[in-house]
Amino acid sequence: MDSIEDFESIQVLHQYQYGLLISKVMFTASELGVFDLLLESGEPLSSGAIAERLGTSPSGMERLLEACVGLKFLRMERKENRSLYGNSALADLYLAKSSLKSQYNFIKFLSEDMYPSAQYLTDAVRKGTEQLESIYGASSKNYFEVFYRSEESLYRFSKAMDDIWSLCGKEVMSAFDLSNFPLICDVGGAAGTLAKECISLYPNSTAIVFDLPEVVESLKKDPVFSQESWMTFQTGDFFKDPVPEADLYILARILHSWNDEKCIQLLTKLHKACKPGGGVLVVELVLDEDKCGPPEAHLHSMLMLLHSKGKERTSSEYQALFTAAGFKEMQLKKGTLYDALMGRK
Ligand code: SAM
Repeated sequence: MDSIEDFESIQVLHQYQYGLLISKVMFTASELGVFDLLLESGEPLSSGAIAERLGTSPSGMERLLEACVGLKFLRMERKENRSLYGNSALADLYLAKSSLKSQYNFIKFLSEDMYPSAQYLTDAVRKGTEQLESIYGASSKNYFEVFYRSEESLYRFSKAMDDIWSLCGKEVMSAFDLSNFPLICDVGGAAGTLAKECISLYPNSTAIVFDLPEVVESLKKDPVFSQESWMTFQTGDFFKDPVPEADLYILARILHSWNDEKCIQLLTKLHKACKPGGGVLVVELVLDEDKCGPPEAHLHSMLMLLHSKGKERTSSEYQALFTAAGFKEMQLKKGTLYDALMGRK
């Protein structure tokens, strides 16, 4: 090795080459229930005890636990010549199913749906189009039709989408002061998880959650579903049906699924429905103007290429969509993960 730069490049090279295995080690431990068992047990356990409780081979489990320690999902201590394993703070907070900030559903969705689809990325890049037919064997117009093909898969998708808001829902909803919008409509708002975060910050407002009929019907059957008095559901297709009247429309992770033409169609509809002084709050992973980052926006854009006609966009690209739809001004507030863009009528 010639220099420190070479050493650093090789480390990055290795880390990225093995990225798929890093994800898979996390997914496997999550799927087998390692993080849940260690949170519930309240004390570190040996690999033999973990294997027995989770019904796996002792040798396979030991190897997995060691890898999890190396990746800092778990910690290991030596006691009386035995290795005992416990969750790291990260696992307790985000990986165990029962944690309030658990990302378990999203991990399951990444593992079962996104991970296998990634093998079609080369085809998607070659052809410049989504690969729904190759991935799912389905000739569907958009990925919602694919994920909503059964109630189980609809449920898995919607639960996966919800997880992120326990981490940054409050942050995105407080990026702008929304207290002057008494009636807020979350368009494509699924079970209303983000709307709940919003109203917890602005208790004088009420919210309408608008989504496809099959989504609302299915999510209402969820035992954990709760509908507060300040929240109503309205069903419809946001391209075909009228949207409810409101002072503010939220579009969280909606525009990135559609091409510019469809985005302008939807934003124009919301601009027309919006009362004067009202607005649209777009929540997305916004690309830097020079498109050199952030990496999570690039990675999501790859998922969008695989699954839709959409993409992640820069702030000026969103500005162009807002302007084409008739909005006078647009402001961006960067967040830790998700960003907020506000267009005013
Ligand atoms: N806004 C939620 C969030 O950020 O957690 C959900 C985002 S999810 C990626 C997109 C949502 O848009 C889904 O709930 C989906 O059912 C809804 N959706 C997709 N097409 C729609 C349509 N044509 N009309 C109404 N809702 C639609």
